[in-house]
Amino acid sequence: MFMKFEIISIFPEIFHSYFETSILGRASKKNLVYYTIHNLRDYTKDKHKTVDDTPYGGGAGMVMKVEPIYDNVQSILDKETISTRSILLSAKGRVFTQKDALRLSHYKRIILICGRYEGVDERVSQYITDEELSVGPYVLTGGELPAMIVCDAITRLIPGVLGNPHSLQEESQGDLYDASYPQYTKPEIFHNWNVPRTLLEGNHAEIEKWRKANARLKNTPQQ
Ligand code: SAM
Repeated sequence: MFMKFEIISIFPEIFHSYFETSILGRASKKNLVYYTIHNLRDYTKDKHKTVDDTPYGGGAGMVMKVEPIYDNVQSILDKETISTRSILLSAKGRVFTQKDALRLSHYKRIILICGRYEGVDERVSQYITDEELSVGPYVLTGGELPAMIVCDAITRLIPGVLGNPHSLQEESQGDLYDASYPQYTKPEIFHNWNVPRTLLEGNHAEIEKWRKANARLKNTPQQ
């Protein structure tokens, strides 16, 4: 099983260090995932490599043009026919969850389009992409961090990527409950701050009980 991520951005240099480091780096060395970063400007046709223009109807800022995005996505789709989901990262999209990560991990290829400026021509979400996802209720300067978040969350669900399949099992139902109990490591006492006794006593049934009782549903939005 493998996953191909195809990311479309006007700042491709942002991605390399993150994708080459730690678990994501190892996953790509093992050919479990492939990250391809496309420079959207390579799909423009004018000499200035223009990717944005002024908004119809007026208003502040610039809007990313539909044609280069269409051409870039089409060039990816033309390469091979595999199950693909294309996503526009957008502050007004539906908020990305662990369940989405699990659902998307079953595709062979994910295309991620990173917006910049005041956003992206609406026809991209209407006609080109399958869904529009946000990483949270706040506005960032671009879709690159959101794309990395989506890639990271999906990559760790690809079989063979995580060293410890138990942690995956805990999360793989899209339910973060079991994975959200408090964790401690050595030393046992630091500044009079103690590790809970139950965790030190080696009784696995009791530890399990303690973890269930102390787990917090961290994916519940705070009021
Ligand atoms: N009004 C725009 C919108 O609705 O997305 C805000 C534009 S924002 C300054 C520029 C780009 O950053 C967006 O096109 C999107 O790709 C990305 N972006 C900003 N916040 C985001 C978020 N919370 N989740 C996903 N992408 C986001």
